[in-house]
Amino acid sequence: MAPSALASSSPISPVATQYSSKRRISSAATNTKNSAQTLISCALQTRINSINPDECEAGGEDAFFVADLGEVYRQHMRWKINLPRVEPFYAVKCNGDEKVLSLLAALGTGFDCASKAEIQQVLNLGVNPSRIIYANPCKTASYIRYAAEENVRMMTFDNAEELYKVKKFFPHARLFLRICTDDSKALCRLSLKYGAPLDSTRHLLELAKDLRLDVVGVSFHVGSGSYDPTAFLTAVQDARRVFNEATEVGYDLRTLDVGGGYGNDNFEEIAAVLGPAIDEYFPPSVRVIAEPGRYYVSSAFTIATHIIARRTVQEDGSRNPSYMLYLNDGVYGNFSGILFDHQKPVPKVLKRGDKYFFGSTPTDSQLTKYSIWGPTCDGIDCISSFSNLPEVLEAGDWLYFSDMGAYSKCSATKFNGFSDNHDVVYVVSDPGALALLP
Ligand SMILES: *Cc1c(COP(=O)(O)O)cnc(C)c1O
Repeated sequence: MAPSALASSSPISPVATQYSSKRRISSAATNTKNSAQTLISCALQTRINSINPDECEAGGEDAFFVADLGEVYRQHMRWKINLPRVEPFYAVKCNGDEKVLSLLAALGTGFDCASKAEIQQVLNLGVNPSRIIYANPCKTASYIRYAAEENVRMMTFDNAEELYKVKKFFPHARLFLRICTDDSKALCRLSLKYGAPLDSTRHLLELAKDLRLDVVGVSFHVGSGSYDPTAFLTAVQDARRVFNEATEVGYDLRTLDVGGGYGNDNFEEIAAVLGPAIDEYFPPSVRVIAEPGRYYVSSAFTIATHIIARRTVQEDGSRNPSYMLYLNDGVYGNFSGILFDHQKPVPKVLKRGDKYFFGSTPTDSQLTKYSIWGPTCDGIDCISSFSNLPEVLEAGDWLYFSDMGAYSKCSATKFNGFSDNHDVVYVVSDPGALALLP
């Protein structure tokens, strides 16, 4: 990397500049947030400096991610410190990035899969089938047969029909009864679709017993984006009641699955409620697992997008114009989480003219009003209807968005002929993670 490219960033250590081609991994000797930011900044600049928008082939300036695997590693350590009794089974649907999955496999996590393809992807990493839970209460029959062939035995159910299906295709499955929770305070509600109401659990357990099925535990998911940690307490108490019912029916349940929905911002708060609740209601002989998704990856991915067009809007009665910016990625692409996951990505200036601004804001021009749009011809393709950004951003400049690791790339489409497969540049800001990677 040319030193001149480092316009606005702090000095970069020699280790941090080892980065070369787009799929290589670079490393840093320290694990501070600062060095992580420096590595990400360097990777962004190196990649952008390698692109000449005036001469590159079509799509050469496509949006791309920088993924910091060190951040995934730190989140795992943070989990172990705060919820030492709970074994995480990473929810693959949230981000199936190959390197993230490899790192988590090396860290010894389990995996929550919801389809044949997800199970297969995890098994291909050499993960033992006992470390997978097929956590979809309404499963495709042929996928259940596949799980049986591969000996992926843990799976969830929440209704009688599913029990008959499992009896037919995989009578030796180890079943978790997924219960309904009060998710009224969550942004992404799940209990409308899944979870056995608490007045149905005894009947389901009796039916399972009649069918001679192996029920081994209870699971729940309080919904995602829940800012109410007490939802976890209530769910643990409900699970306890179902454990007791199961004892009456003749089962000896051994595992509690406390689901997903852990946020990055309120994780310690949730853990401070959930950890003690588990200890209060479940003896140490009960194994406790969880299915965190977004928690592990959200903060690990940054996306860089190219401004492809700008329209000046002169509002009536206003002397100052506002601007519409059109990016080469949007709601049909990696910003799909705006629709599916209630995300509100925050645009920041990455490169204006030939200057970089990662982690800082240009101070040489005043803020002005922008709306930010994706590249497709659909009006719904809006990333932000109102953002204050420095004046004179124009086509050719770059914006970046942090916290783009969850429910982004995985639900991107090819709508309107745009790419759904954007490059990922990997950096590793933590030596602990580096040691585990192939
Ligand atoms: C989506 C999902 C998860 C992960 O949810 P996050 O909010 O990403 O933690 C876990 N378990 C199940 C059953 C899910 O459907």
